[in-house]
Amino acid sequence: MEIIQQDIPYIQDALLEWYQANKRDLPWRRQSNAYYTLVSEIMLQQTKVATVIPYYERFISRFPTAHDLATASDDDVVKLWEGLGYYSRARNLHSAIKEVVATYNGTIPMDKGEISKLKGIGPYTTGAVLSIAYNQKVPAVDGNVMRVFSRIFALEDDIAKVSTRKKMESIAEEVIPDHSPGDFNQALMELGATICTPKSPQCLFCPVKDVCLAYEKGLEKVLPIKKKAKAPEKTVIVMYALSFNAQLLVQKRPSTGLLANMWSLPTEDRLEEMPFDNQIEEYCEVNGYSAKIFSDIYQYEHIFSHRHWKIMLVFVELANKPDFTPKRSIWVDKHTISDFAFPKVYLKALEQLGYRN
Ligand code: SF4
Repeated sequence: MEIIQQDIPYIQDALLEWYQANKRDLPWRRQSNAYYTLVSEIMLQQTKVATVIPYYERFISRFPTAHDLATASDDDVVKLWEGLGYYSRARNLHSAIKEVVATYNGTIPMDKGEISKLKGIGPYTTGAVLSIAYNQKVPAVDGNVMRVFSRIFALEDDIAKVSTRKKMESIAEEVIPDHSPGDFNQALMELGATICTPKSPQCLFCPVKDVCLAYEKGLEKVLPIKKKAKAPEKTVIVMYALSFNAQLLVQKRPSTGLLANMWSLPTEDRLEEMPFDNQIEEYCEVNGYSAKIFSDIYQYEHIFSHRHWKIMLVFVELANKPDFTPKRSIWVDKHTISDFAFPKVYLKALEQLGYRN
């Protein structure tokens, strides 16, 4: 192992002392409650603290206990997540909590094997909940912690690799103190979020600068090593705003795949072999829509984790309301549309259409 054993007690004491003096006052830190910790940790995945706070507060005030969340409808849960992205997190959290209520009477399990079997709970979340809420000595290694360890111990492993994460977990097991494991894990995360930041680490204010090898060697902006992932695959998408009498047709997306079960506008891939106008005409013909007018009103791009959509939003004013409404679809007006949860990519289109602010 490339870590310097005699520095470990210093790192433990310095980080814990710094954390006590500098920790941010965050709503999920105000009381010890494993359900609150779990909700906050799931929301914080891939998402900044400032973005999460209002979502977390709304979510906990609507579902203050695991029982409240377990008995909620999927639509209610996703609606509260609207705009936060990565919606499978909301669905997995909902399933996990239903399991917690059914099997563990509403108490998040304290056993590593049991908690990590819950839907959507990976090694990081397992470690975060067990250490923060139950004070167990379990590593919680996320991107922040990998960056901090790479720098303190001058590790040149590629942090995009699964094997590196495993190595970091072994390091964490050595570094986490027997006392205060939850505070220590949070101190590491906090240091990564506020001082040892990706682009401009504030080494002069860092509590562990005296033993940090990256600082000593001037490598703080070189580490961690992260090899570039492949760029997300690009697809051109046509999004239809089908309108009749100021009502808009909205559709629930398929129950699996990207943005599963979220509300959307009818969407299809752009057929490059066909002129654009012909594609719109064919779409209307196949679906039995008589288009009075149509216009390509807005183009924009949206990047998901593995996909990149180039979107052409088309407004189609129908001459008459179709005889039947397609499956999983509903006509809504400007007032009722706010009852439905749309992911960001569709909210952008609805804003352009004047249906959402
Ligand atoms: S000294 Fe600098 S590089 Fe090292 S842990 Fe602190 S902030 Fe990060």
